[in-house]
Amino acid sequence: MRLVSIISPVHNEDDCIDELFSKLQAVAAKENNYEFEFIFVDDGSTDGSFEKMVNLAAKHENVKAVELTRSFGKELALTAGLSEAKGEACIMLDADLQHPPELIPKFLREWENGFEVVVGVRNRGVGESFFRRCASAIFYKIMSEIGETPIMPFATDFRLINKVALDAFKKFTEHQRMTRGLIDWLGFKSTNIYFDVEERKNGKTRHSFSKLMRLAASTLVSHSFFPLKLAGYFGVLITLCSGALGIFIMIGRFVIHDPWSLSVSGMGMLATLTIFLVGIILMGLGLVALYIGQIHAEVINRPLYVTRRKINL
Ligand code: UDP
Ligand code: MG
Repeated sequence: MRLVSIISPVHNEDDCIDELFSKLQAVAAKENNYEFEFIFVDDGSTDGSFEKMVNLAAKHENVKAVELTRSFGKELALTAGLSEAKGEACIMLDADLQHPPELIPKFLREWENGFEVVVGVRNRGVGESFFRRCASAIFYKIMSEIGETPIMPFATDFRLINKVALDAFKKFTEHQRMTRGLIDWLGFKSTNIYFDVEERKNGKTRHSFSKLMRLAASTLVSHSFFPLKLAGYFGVLITLCSGALGIFIMIGRFVIHDPWSLSVSGMGMLATLTIFLVGIILMGLGLVALYIGQIHAEVINRPLYVTRRKINL
């Protein structure tokens, strides 16, 4: 029997865990060709989440519980779970039941069809506030314009990845990470499964707006060098414009002796010169930014390439 790992990050979800597990069990019972292990990662919960996980683990030996020392955020909690997974495929899903466990068989079928990654994609903006929908639309728009790897809007962390993709994923060393962005970066053959997000069962989202903003900013920075280059682009633009203006003023005044009676003041000339110099400084900054970009790329130490298969090794 092939083993499939199911991974859930948990942050203060004590009223969802039991229901989640019973739904998962119901799904597992129908899948006769697979064995399952369930890995719950407690991301610094302050309610009884971890006790619930321990209780389940005591009753079922295929339930594994990982407790993090504090809340590291969902992305790192997922990573912790993935690093414990022993299965030939891993399925990640949120513990708050917004990712319906009933869809797991669909993910498995696509995996059997030969896909290495199966991505759950939300049907347009269901189950989210208007404000958050707008914010995420803007974010994905910006990312698709300037990001190095496009990140698909509405794609979620509800995903299956096979063992090979998991091994590749484990090589990422960056601390600021967006799991789904990294999985997309790996480039494995993937397909989508569309689903409606249910309303959250209990309370509010565990992702405060500030947590999401931080994630958006770090994703932008780690998947795009455009913000770094911005100063440089501005510099080139300002230098060119003010340089042209300066030359125009000089020629107008000293060569053709101001036929349009512009009589540009000394102050005006000084301003043009200053702006010209600001442009040069910005270009210098842009140049420094290019080096920083290189350093950044080296420091996050991404794997240089990703292997799909090894034969006779
Ligand atoms: N989560 C986590 N750490 C956090 C925030 C959330 O492990 O700091 C978990 C949470 O318990 C849930 C999943 O990540 O299982 C998704 O969180 P949430 O539902 O708050 O996110 P949203 O659905 O609003 O994107
Ligand atoms: Mg949720």
